[in-house]
Amino acid sequence: MRHPLVMGNWKLNGSKQLTADLISGLRTVLTDVQGCKVVIAPPALYLAQAVAAVEGSNIGVGAQNIDVNLSGAFTGETSAEMLKDTGAGYVILGHSERRTYHHETDEVVAEKFAIVKQQGLIPVLCIGETEAENEAGKTEEVCSRQIDAVINAHGVEALTDAVIAYEPVWAIGTGKSATPAQAQAVHKFIRDHIAKQSREVAEQVIIQYGGSVNDKNAAELFGQPDIDGALVGGASLKADAFSVIVKAA
Ligand code: PEP
Repeated sequence: MRHPLVMGNWKLNGSKQLTADLISGLRTVLTDVQGCKVVIAPPALYLAQAVAAVEGSNIGVGAQNIDVNLSGAFTGETSAEMLKDTGAGYVILGHSERRTYHHETDEVVAEKFAIVKQQGLIPVLCIGETEAENEAGKTEEVCSRQIDAVINAHGVEALTDAVIAYEPVWAIGTGKSATPAQAQAVHKFIRDHIAKQSREVAEQVIIQYGGSVNDKNAAELFGQPDIDGALVGGASLKADAFSVIVKAA
């Protein structure tokens, strides 16, 4: 049975001090959380510090990206093998910022997805349409294309023990969240789309919503039957707001 997952994407924010303070704040307020899994994704430089700081707590650690290679002459990159070695358990893949600024294609994201799974880590596959695609009525087309890139390359079973984050690009960092009804409709479409290939996989895959989730709108979003938690950007940098979101899940 799937469980709610709330994950904090710190993006390119943080320092040694912020990592220490935020984790210590979260440890204090999240001691009694049950049923919902909590994961933080700091920048790669702070992963080892974060892994040490969450030890003995119910907080997991994830990364924001990996390279397609495991080792070798690829200056500046970080591999899934290194993340595993560091103790991270999750990897965010295909975030819209990476698709936009780093030109990651559906195929590259699918390749990274397989590498993450091969290392025994949990991929968090970000999908979602831009504002123009939304206005052109292409939301379902874009989401199914981005999921099918993984299914066609690796089979529907690849989505077992994986996470999908539906993140409409127009809602990320804009303060303009999708309404609970809008998000639920897309989440149901995604689950039904996967169910065409495997009902079992569709029922167990965690589908998070992401896009301007905050302490005010989280509860109503999580009240929807197909929304299994959230991928949270801005609000994950404040222990009090993030913990309200976790408790709402
Ligand atoms: C994100 O970066 O994945 C995200 C959803 O950001 P925000 O919560 O700030 O919209």
